[in-house]
Amino acid sequence: MTQNPIQSVSQNVMEQVQRYQIDPKRSLGQNFLLDTTALDKIVAAADLLPTDTVLEIGPGLGTLTTRLASQAGHVVAVELDDRLIELLRADFADKPHAQIVHGDILTLAPSELLADQLSQSTAGYKVVANLPYYITSAVLRHLLEAAVPPKLAVVMVQKEVAERICAQPGDLSILAVSVQFYAVPRIVQVVPAAAFYPAPKVDSAVLRLDLRPQPAVTDISPQAFFRVVRAGFGQKRKQLINSLGAGLGLPKSAIQSALTVAAIDPTRRAETLTLDEWGQLCRALAVR
Ligand code: SAM
Repeated sequence: MTQNPIQSVSQNVMEQVQRYQIDPKRSLGQNFLLDTTALDKIVAAADLLPTDTVLEIGPGLGTLTTRLASQAGHVVAVELDDRLIELLRADFADKPHAQIVHGDILTLAPSELLADQLSQSTAGYKVVANLPYYITSAVLRHLLEAAVPPKLAVVMVQKEVAERICAQPGDLSILAVSVQFYAVPRIVQVVPAAAFYPAPKVDSAVLRLDLRPQPAVTDISPQAFFRVVRAGFGQKRKQLINSLGAGLGLPKSAIQSALTVAAIDPTRRAETLTLDEWGQLCRALAVR
């Protein structure tokens, strides 16, 4: 019989909430995951091996961290909330392979956080996290554009954000292009709002990102590529011939001939272009 996820509420989490006497802070995106089925699903989606190094963002009460520490060789968990640090460190004191770091993930480079592990092995690292939703895009950008990006990320995000990231040409956005440039995204499971304490306003989804060995377009710098992409998306629902001209400060005639060389109909809109077509367009515009 399949279990209703909300029937598998972890008493442990509620005990942790009481034990930690934590009043969840909305400003830090603190929606703790109660549902053990969802917690297990996140861990399973990361295909963890005893040799893996995992970076967790926002361990919160440590429920996901405990599962990660039981399967991975090393876990570094970065938590911003100073109320949680000593409690987490005490809870993981008997697990020296699980390290709690106090800080803001957006100011910490993965290559520095994991310097010891990365210097000992070329296997790279995985990110596994129930993300604080107020910084979802910033965290994804921070990880995907890092000097040493993860090889895999399994992250809980808002369902609508997960769907936007996984969109196909026709419904693409800057967020989707930015993620798909570096990774192949897939929704593993939708998780209802009631699976969290406190329940957020919207449902969530577990998203798996398999990092590409190289970005989707390799002969153009990410800076130049995204300058053109941002220009294309700059004016909502406008035809490319108009949005690109305004965004890049180029005359319409130059945009027209670049679109012709790239074999892209000038009346198309940015959300319809494949990553390959953005690459063709960059080449035709001679941006590097
Ligand atoms: N992992 C726990 C769970 O699954 O129940 C908590 C997840 S909760 C959605 C997000 C966590 O991220 C919170 O513990 C919050 O304090 C932490 N957090 C918020 N902003 C952060 C930041 N900039 N850097 C690191 N952690 C952050």
